[in-house]
Amino acid sequence: MTTNLEWRTATKKRPCYICGKPDWCSRNRSGDVAICRRPKGSSKTTKIDSSGAEYSVHRKEGTKTTGNYTHNKKPEYKSPRKAEDWILNLVYRNFLDGLALDGRALTQMHQRGLMPDDINAGLYKYLPEFLKKNNYNITLLLQKLENIFGIETLLQVPGFYLNTNKRISLTTHDQILIPVRNQHNQIISLKCRLPYDSETGIPKYTYFTSSKHNGPSSGAYVHFPVFGKWNKSHQNLIITEGELKADLASIYFDDPCISIPGVSSWRRSIPEIDRIKPEKVVIAFDMDKSTNPNVDFHHNNFCQELQDRSIKFGVLEW
Ligand SMILES: [Zn+2]
Repeated sequence: MTTNLEWRTATKKRPCYICGKPDWCSRNRSGDVAICRRPKGSSKTTKIDSSGAEYSVHRKEGTKTTGNYTHNKKPEYKSPRKAEDWILNLVYRNFLDGLALDGRALTQMHQRGLMPDDINAGLYKYLPEFLKKNNYNITLLLQKLENIFGIETLLQVPGFYLNTNKRISLTTHDQILIPVRNQHNQIISLKCRLPYDSETGIPKYTYFTSSKHNGPSSGAYVHFPVFGKWNKSHQNLIITEGELKADLASIYFDDPCISIPGVSSWRRSIPEIDRIKPEKVVIAFDMDKSTNPNVDFHHNNFCQELQDRSIKFGVLEW
């Protein structure tokens, strides 16, 4: 049984009473149950949430237990049915086939270090404005997808939803789409990169998802770049965060690279390490602790886990 609780994020005024930090952790309204997102080492109380991140649940001594406490970002939300990977792959490939990269997006991808051949192989595409300008090409593309796959199937693919005219529409626009691939080179998700962030210069990433329209959410996956050198015997396996970074690492280094959705989900890479069995794991996270103090915490836990499993590892900064 999951108990419905109102979770309140830790603040400076009311920090987490387990780790003492003013962010990221949470507690329920009455304050007798706390969820710490910085669980210590291999504590028996440590659990893993749906995104692969660790947490531990703590109950203040002397308070009554009223149920099992599980914690996800959206504890009450159950994602509607999502199509199987092979269908997601077919739909996304047909969708991407109908799109291109416009000049500005192309320049951005060049600046990121991708050559024209890489851009073609990676299937990076620009999704132009559709909702605002009622883009005719996109309308035709969506009609084509409706004809091939049918509305029912498309509603099981994150990123599509049924509009008030009962036609398939898109949940986002004006984004560069970055394919997320599984180990079989199936495109199972799309990451969206806001193309022209002039203010900060920092690219912002979101998912191609239907969750705001009561459709399936995108999920968060380990990504296997199409550029990966998967046919050689693996001495090193590079593990980074973010799909575009993994694609670039696969192009520039001789070793294969996979990415996890974020540093907190490092546990998701463990089954892949077990399967690929590299001689050495190379961790290549963004170690910018000044902007994200949690990176250090997860990085250390990841290293500890590898050490406990007697897996050789090193750190790469690039
Ligand atoms: Zn905490």
